[in-house]
Amino acid sequence: MNILLLGSGGREHALAWKLAQSPSLTKLYAAPGNPGIAEEAELVALDATNHAAVIAFCQKHGIALVVVGPEAPLVDGLADSLRSAGIAVFGPSKAAAQLEGSKGFTKDLCERAGIPTAGYVRTSTLGEATAALDRFDAPYVLKADGLAAGKGVVIAETRTQAEAALADMFGGQFGDAGAEVVIEEFMRGEEASFFALTDGTAILPFGSAQDHKRVGEGDTGPNTGGMGAYSPAPVLTPELEAQVMREIIEPTVNTMRAEGMPYSGVLYAGLMLTETGPRLIEYNCRFGDPECQVLMMRYRGDLAQLMLACAEGRLDGCDAPFGDETALTVVMAAKGYPGTPEKGGAINVGGAQSVSGKVFHAGTAMADGALVANGGRVLNVTAMGQNVTEAQRIAYEAVDAISFPSGFCRRDIGWREVEREAA
Ligand code: ATP
Repeated sequence: MNILLLGSGGREHALAWKLAQSPSLTKLYAAPGNPGIAEEAELVALDATNHAAVIAFCQKHGIALVVVGPEAPLVDGLADSLRSAGIAVFGPSKAAAQLEGSKGFTKDLCERAGIPTAGYVRTSTLGEATAALDRFDAPYVLKADGLAAGKGVVIAETRTQAEAALADMFGGQFGDAGAEVVIEEFMRGEEASFFALTDGTAILPFGSAQDHKRVGEGDTGPNTGGMGAYSPAPVLTPELEAQVMREIIEPTVNTMRAEGMPYSGVLYAGLMLTETGPRLIEYNCRFGDPECQVLMMRYRGDLAQLMLACAEGRLDGCDAPFGDETALTVVMAAKGYPGTPEKGGAINVGGAQSVSGKVFHAGTAMADGALVANGGRVLNVTAMGQNVTEAQRIAYEAVDAISFPSGFCRRDIGWREVEREAA
């Protein structure tokens, strides 16, 4: 079959790499892609916001499946347009993508379905929001309702800081995404990510991971899109995974279907493992980046077939074979990230590929025939090992084989698990 993959990051490079290994793939196209994806797919210039152009491309090139990498086209309804044109798509409808597109929508769904999550209030005026702070203790968790590229969450230590952050949100800091604000109870615990594929009815667990959101070592400094990740996450034991399926994932999928918004695609649950059990922090309607990179390293099946089965409502009876090894990825970013990254810096991947297993491209470009940095997060250096300690050691050997003078990375990806493995 021919497949069109949409997106241009490290997540999409990992998906392209795995799809290219599928025996059932005939030809892979990617739009817009990046120089790494170009090794696996033919790159095409398509604007995902132009639904008619995407449909016309699919019809012309006999595309049997469209795989949507990032959330924005899904929240924008691209999957609905493709399905109306009879084209199979891996990714949820606009209505179902509200699970990521509106934090208030998800909190209300959790309440209706009895899903464990933080207590909350949805507000749409500054006055209401400020008054609602009385119902919570510090630290205050404040979230712009809509998509804000991972920057719409503020954890305020004091009431004064919370009031200032609310004024910024209602003052237009996040545009329309902040027209409504969710205030939440602060949950304590360790965070982990859990993934499941679903066609709206059948649900297939698809692995766990932990990421590192902060830019600095020891999980310090500003938040980023993610500086590294590993999979599986041993803190999410088989017992806890079963509990997450029973108490969080299944009621979500069942409620969405019962309410006429069946969810199809990958459901990515951000979890807080609290003293009283796992609780949902948030849902995403696509794979995580860089969590996807480590999941794809471990996945052993035919991804094209599995995604098509998911898109066509045939997931029942499918399985998801994963290797027992641990995969770990280190993000190399351009200096300045997550502020303004230096663009154009020279990169020489050198012998890293043979050391590590795989170097996925995120923000790279070709300039005069040479590879250069073209974004905040630039490379995802990914390795496999018997445990996190071994995968980490190999990943950093590969990092050290790369020349990227205008780049940097954290040297401690996986530290929690490395400490536990040493204990
Ligand atoms: P992402 O970039 O992960 O998609 P997001 O902007 O959608 O982020 P959330 O995942 O909801 O936002 O929150 C971001 C981070 O804030 C979480 O990973 C967690 O560390 C913290 N956080 C969010 N909600 C809570 C909560 N109720 N209690 C404690 N910490 C929280």
